[in-house]
Amino acid sequence: MERISHWIGGKVVAGESGRKGPVFNPATGVQTHEVDFAAPEEIGAAVEAASEAFPGWRATSLSKRADVMFRMRELIELHKVDLARVVTSQHGKVISDATGEVQRGLENVEFATGIPNLLKGGFSEQVSTGVDVYSIRQPLGVVAGITPFNFPAMVPIWMFANAIACGNTFILKPSEKDPGASMFLAELLKEAGVPDGVFNVVHGDKVAVDAILEHPDIRAVSFVGSTPIARYIYETGTRNGKRVQALGGAKNHMVVLPDADLDMAADAAVSAGYGSAGERCMAVSAIIAVGGIGDELVNKIAERLPAVKVGDGTDPASEMGPLVTREHRDKVASYLESGAEQGATIVRDGRKDAVSQRDGFFLGVSLIDHVTTDMDCYRDEIFGPVLGVLRVDGYDEAVRMVNDNPYGNGVAIFTRDGGVARRFQFEVGAGMVGVNVPIPVPVAYYSFGGWKSSLFGDSHMYGPEGVHFYTRGKVVTSRWPDPSTSQVDLGFPRTR
Ligand code: NAD
Repeated sequence: MERISHWIGGKVVAGESGRKGPVFNPATGVQTHEVDFAAPEEIGAAVEAASEAFPGWRATSLSKRADVMFRMRELIELHKVDLARVVTSQHGKVISDATGEVQRGLENVEFATGIPNLLKGGFSEQVSTGVDVYSIRQPLGVVAGITPFNFPAMVPIWMFANAIACGNTFILKPSEKDPGASMFLAELLKEAGVPDGVFNVVHGDKVAVDAILEHPDIRAVSFVGSTPIARYIYETGTRNGKRVQALGGAKNHMVVLPDADLDMAADAAVSAGYGSAGERCMAVSAIIAVGGIGDELVNKIAERLPAVKVGDGTDPASEMGPLVTREHRDKVASYLESGAEQGATIVRDGRKDAVSQRDGFFLGVSLIDHVTTDMDCYRDEIFGPVLGVLRVDGYDEAVRMVNDNPYGNGVAIFTRDGGVARRFQFEVGAGMVGVNVPIPVPVAYYSFGGWKSSLFGDSHMYGPEGVHFYTRGKVVTSRWPDPSTSQVDLGFPRTR
């Protein structure tokens, strides 16, 4: 059994806690690796390495830090498919989707190459006689990232590209379900010229996370994962004096108005609902059919489903892979059972597909109609290939439904009416809105984040808000000796 160990101080360090966990190939159901779980002492060793590396790294010139990011960009580009293969082998998503994930991560590295421009401060000359004021942003120190299983390459990059470019040193605690991609990225960062100790990876579970949250020398924590854990990370981290951004789960709605192009909407629903087997925090999960179009829309979605090719992610013909673990597959499948018990109509039951009988953690694409807001399949984040359709009479009821939902990550509206789309964007309570775009993940030069129970903290991730999160401001008021302006003045400093 191959072992995955920590990466501390620029090299692989075998875990010594004696605790470890299994990593599976979800397409076969076979365990392929075991991953070391860090004890608090191992988190301490990573923090020590990162603390030692910090003074040198923050003093490294902006152009050298940018240069490292340019080299990292080239290396990710060069190894894109190899990295995607690692993702597929432990997460299960199809290789084209894994390559897309790496590409979106790479765009965050590209954004970070602009760090000399991003860290420009402000300057005001002559605020008082002979006095100038300027603002600068400086790195925080050692910062940590705790990431989910569903984007094992992209989400760590969301965090570390900006954090490192800003001059911080970084400790990553990736998901224990698919930790391989983070080790691949560690090797690439080293090759790109990131000094030892600037980037570290520690694996593990709650023990490792708690040690991060409690360590006094970690200044900030970025988290992406489920809502209950996000809330816990935010509360514990801030109680311990850390800056925290914690992105949580989602229940993303797609509102389809009667004037929408229903074929386009059905294509989008299938792509956004079943892509990556629904294991995306921006996946569409609940479709709200407005004003009598329910039957037609459900039929259009249902007729597309038999063509979706579900299979091993390494097979180029596959469009959707397995779920990440057996337990998660079974939990997702349970929503079909509870949905039927609670009165919904199961239009397509993926449990019956031949692929669902295979040894891997597969579940065929599933569609539930006549879902209502009191059903478990609506109330919970399913995070699997199960789409639910709800029906409402009018636009106002649709917006109310979205806004009453405790989550507020992504939302989309499908319509040909620009006025209604604009009103929707104004009224809807979600952080990322798509107009005829089902998965409105912001490009790297905007920032990513939801509202309500989808985000704890006040800072979205990556882009300008990422740079802001990983730096703190300083304002310098400066006067240089000039005999013509020097005088004794015991009054409070004034500008006029
Ligand atoms: P998770 O919350 O189970 O795990 C996320 C991280 O927290 C992992 O590193 C895990 O080891 C750690 N963790 C798990 N249990 C813990 C505990 N009790 N105490 C401390 N740490 C713990 O999430 P997941 O299943 O890996 O990922 C899927 C979830 O992530 C979904 O809810 C999805 O919506 C969410 N997600 C959100 C976004 C977003 O941007 N909002 C993006 C991707 C995924």
